[in-house]
Amino acid sequence: MLKGKTALVTGSTSGIGLGIAKALAAKGANIVLNGFGDHAGPHAEVAAHGTQVAYHGADMSRPDEIQAMMSFAAEKFGRVDILVNNAGIQHVARVENFPIEKWDAILAINLSSAFHATRLALPAMQKANWGRVINIASVHGLVGSAEKSAYVAAKHGIVGLTKVTALENATSGVTCNAICPGWVLTPLVQKQVDAKAQALGLSNEDATKLLLGEKEPSMQFTTPQELGELAVFFCSAAGNNVRGVAWNMDGAWAAQ
Ligand code: NAD
Repeated sequence: MLKGKTALVTGSTSGIGLGIAKALAAKGANIVLNGFGDHAGPHAEVAAHGTQVAYHGADMSRPDEIQAMMSFAAEKFGRVDILVNNAGIQHVARVENFPIEKWDAILAINLSSAFHATRLALPAMQKANWGRVINIASVHGLVGSAEKSAYVAAKHGIVGLTKVTALENATSGVTCNAICPGWVLTPLVQKQVDAKAQALGLSNEDATKLLLGEKEPSMQFTTPQELGELAVFFCSAAGNNVRGVAWNMDGAWAAQ
């Protein structure tokens, strides 16, 4: 289905980004991976699907490095057909205690990076009259939670960016949509489970149940694989006229 297409997934050395990269590779897309930490392991996992895989280590808080990554992808594969803006970080503190440098980093990595990658990817997509921009927002793009001011602001912002990008390209073959996961058990969330376990003296299992019970009625984590399949749907022909949506996969979190 995606043979001959190239997908660039930011923050794809781990968690949701890696799950989406694998799902798109399984449908035949060439993949550009990005992110920190070990990239040889993720590279091998994605390449197992038989497509071409490249890696660029751009720091998504740096517009110059994002530009270098987009040029690298264009040189390697011709253009980026599918852009998944996924890189993200979290920090938890009340507004009055929120460290300024954490606010700036979250806004840069979780929101501005998507603007930069999108503005650089769009011209080639528009020329080809086919493209998919998929923004990994969060249920926190739809509702708030205490102590997550920067994250919630960035995620509401990326939902807004999604709508405007969709509108500006609405008469073309370029679509833009957001995915809004609830809890997904990745390193980003395990840190929040660990913090709860430590603060309340709970086991990992009890802290996990508490975390899910506070917000997610299904009491189940969404998986990177499930999110990957939603990204595949957005890339399919059936997704041709799905534009500007913020689609939650959140175990009914936002339905409350
Ligand atoms: P993760 O920590 O497993 O992965 C984050 C990825 O982003 C990693 O590959 C990391 O190296 C990369 N990254 C971080 N800072 C970067 C930077 N400056 N430059 C380049 N890469 C950088 O986290 P995850 O849970 O898979 O989160 C992925 C996305 O999904 C984030 O945008 C997050 O907000 C969103 N999300 C996660 C959940 C969840 O429950 N885990 C829920 C909703 C939304």
